[in-house]
Amino acid sequence: MATAALIEDAGVRTIDPDEEVAFLDAIDRWLEREVIPVIQHHDHNDEWPEALVHQMADMGLFGATIGQEYGGLGLPATTYAKIVMRISSHWMAITGIFNSHLIMAAAVERFGTPEQKAKWLPKFATGEIRGGLALTEPNAGTDLQAIRTTARREGDEYVLNGTKTWISNAINGSAFALLAKTDPKSEPRYKGMSLFIVDKRDGLSVGKKFDKLGYKAIDSAELVMEDYRVPADQLIGGAEGEGFFQATGGLELGRINVAARGVGLAEGSLRHATQYAQERHTMGKPIAQHQAIQLKIGEMATRARAARLLTMDAAEAYDRGERCDKEAGMAKFFASEAAVDNSQDAMRIYGGYSYSKEYDIERYYRDSLLMCIGEGTNEMQRIIIAKQHIKDNPA
Ligand SMILES: Cc1cc2nc3c(=O)[nH]c(=O)nc-3n(C[C@H](O)[C@H](O)[C@H](O)COP(=O)(O)OP(=O)(O)OC[C@H]3O[C@@H](n4cnc5c(N)ncnc54)[C@H](O)[C@@H]3O)c2cc1C
Repeated sequence: MATAALIEDAGVRTIDPDEEVAFLDAIDRWLEREVIPVIQHHDHNDEWPEALVHQMADMGLFGATIGQEYGGLGLPATTYAKIVMRISSHWMAITGIFNSHLIMAAAVERFGTPEQKAKWLPKFATGEIRGGLALTEPNAGTDLQAIRTTARREGDEYVLNGTKTWISNAINGSAFALLAKTDPKSEPRYKGMSLFIVDKRDGLSVGKKFDKLGYKAIDSAELVMEDYRVPADQLIGGAEGEGFFQATGGLELGRINVAARGVGLAEGSLRHATQYAQERHTMGKPIAQHQAIQLKIGEMATRARAARLLTMDAAEAYDRGERCDKEAGMAKFFASEAAVDNSQDAMRIYGGYSYSKEYDIERYYRDSLLMCIGEGTNEMQRIIIAKQHIKDNPA
């Protein structure tokens, strides 16, 4: 795929509208030809979509938001969100293969040293090295500052010990942005945390693979470090104690991505339900002509549209370089709940057939539930939104 013609003006990332249309059309063609025919096979068998991953690399998706100077497409978050929405409206799970990879890349691009950017980003952009973000531990998800993985400096290396869990791409990825404690006794706790680029080698192994409700075909597993030695120059930014902010800073883009996935699921559920409601007849007419069904479709269409607008609002703020944790949180919270609600309403519209794996709609329901958990639970999103809102509106 051709590199997108970017317009960089005073730090604002935009794209020529014709380039964006061409890019999105290419995504649509790929979905029609390559993806849609194989979704059920990969989802039902929980099978890694090797061929699709190569195609995603050829299209440049592993470098979608990485700057062009490093070989990426340098797409603005708005275009990226539209890509994720389109793919997710057919199959959400595969977006996870490049999304957590791009969050790792964003951490290096935003906070890495010039040497780290030059070394890692070109290989991330082509997909030669793929990976993700390793924050969560068995005892610590929301409360990230409670992690127990330690990184002890020894000469030119750090020695890491600990276990990460629920890590997307853990099996098929080869590098991760991984959060560890360089000063476990530090108070406040976040000052003792550092983010490393870890690559697979002796001392880093894959632990338990999770058998999940949904989000099939993409691997979620543990990463175990036992006296794992990483060169000191793989500490992102080169200074200890910055890891908590580096890791959570990357979550803004992550939340926009999850919101976009939610939009895709909400829109996809609506598309399926709208078609089915016009084909299925009861009492001598299509169920779409029954008011009970129309009420559902009316709500679903409104939710999907509101979710899209909130997500684009957050993506535009991100592209302007503004702090947008509140906007990204609102988008993530609303769009993920819209995905759950729309997939459930679509299940109701499908009636008994919703319960059959022959139809796609049950997958939308299984996949949508994850959106309320990942990149900060929806409980936490509401708290972040409220705190920011109260701060912006002092009494
Ligand atoms: C399929 C899948 C893929 C994932 N991929 C990754 C990945 O690639 N990398 C990664 O690092 N992690 C990943 N995760 C982990 C995910 O980020 C965590 O599950 C999530 O952050 C929640 O953490 P937890 O599961 O430990 O829940 P907990 O933190 O134990 O929370 C349990 C419940 O308590 C609530 N809660 C917790 N604290 C508060 C509070 N202060 N106030 C109010 N409510 C609170 C939560 O909202 C939740 O409802 C993935 C998870 C899944 C399921």
